[in-house]
Amino acid sequence: MSGTSENFYLPSLARAAHAGHVKRCLSGLPDSQVDLDSGRMAIAFYCLGSLDLLKMVQERTSETDRESWREWIWEQQTSGIYGSGFRPSPFMTGSMSVEETRYTDYDTPHIIMTYTALLTLAILRDDFSRLDKEGILSFLKACQREDGSFSTVPGGGETDLRTLYCAFVISHLLDDWSGVSVEGALSFIASCRSYEGGYGQFTHCEANGGTTYIAMAAIHLAPVTPNPLTPSEIRKTIEWAAHKQLQSGGFCGRTNKLADACYCFWIGGSLKILGAGDLVDSRSLASFLASCQFKYGGIAKAPGEHSDPYHTYLSLAALSMFPPPISANDANNSSWAFDALDPLINAREETAKWARTHIAIRR
Ligand SMILES: [Zn+2]
Repeated sequence: MSGTSENFYLPSLARAAHAGHVKRCLSGLPDSQVDLDSGRMAIAFYCLGSLDLLKMVQERTSETDRESWREWIWEQQTSGIYGSGFRPSPFMTGSMSVEETRYTDYDTPHIIMTYTALLTLAILRDDFSRLDKEGILSFLKACQREDGSFSTVPGGGETDLRTLYCAFVISHLLDDWSGVSVEGALSFIASCRSYEGGYGQFTHCEANGGTTYIAMAAIHLAPVTPNPLTPSEIRKTIEWAAHKQLQSGGFCGRTNKLADACYCFWIGGSLKILGAGDLVDSRSLASFLASCQFKYGGIAKAPGEHSDPYHTYLSLAALSMFPPPISANDANNSSWAFDALDPLINAREETAKWARTHIAIRR
């Protein structure tokens, strides 16, 4: 793709409008109590994460808001027979007595929510003094299955590569891998590898950008040397991923599909982790994401679609890995400047560092 990228016009990135979009999506989060929506913790993460990538958390939220969000997240940490973790949202009531913080089999913590809770607390610069580290290690152990994969909740629920990635990030942040069988998990990842060089959700599934990112990040987080991938396997994965950037500059998630903003992160991140980030044409990538900007703020999956916090966050994360080279003719050069992203745990480097230092010391 290189050589043609100067032809891509770069309008300004509407940072303030994008911050406004995620801020609107955040409102009401901690207070609406009777809500079974399991995605609330994830939405909080995408919204606050977007503000963090834009470096607008301090400017756009008050200390009172941040304090109430931290409290709300800690209310979701529960413990019980399988150890401790975070629930997706308060199932019965918003205010909890000590008894209510113990879960039943119908109200267990959730592995993906535990990952998003830790990252969101790091964005909010929590000191993690309330983290039940030993309880979380037991919880991870209870979620791992015989084939090395992890279920979303102990003893049941969905299992796919996403849950394995969450278990690995949590172990990495705790700086303690005693809650997981790394060997079993790595062999499960290997079983998800497709003939194309990408990875599917499960064994024998079609390769997909999201799961390929997750496989690459998990393998590189694992405390093992050397890298379990052979040089020819790495080459094949790079080749598969690099071909997903299309003429528009956007990435598609699977062979012969349309470009979608989120795959700029999933596939771009895979290439970055594999040391092949220079294969990404960052100027055409930025031009594609600019065309996905929604007129009232936020970034959509494709031009002409409505924006949402998920695509907004992942687009900003992609730009943090691949900020475009700026030319003098560009409308607003500074709007495209970003801090670096930690591609393995998917957070701004400064936030990743905060998470590592404050979570690991808790016992
Ligand atoms: Zn998407």
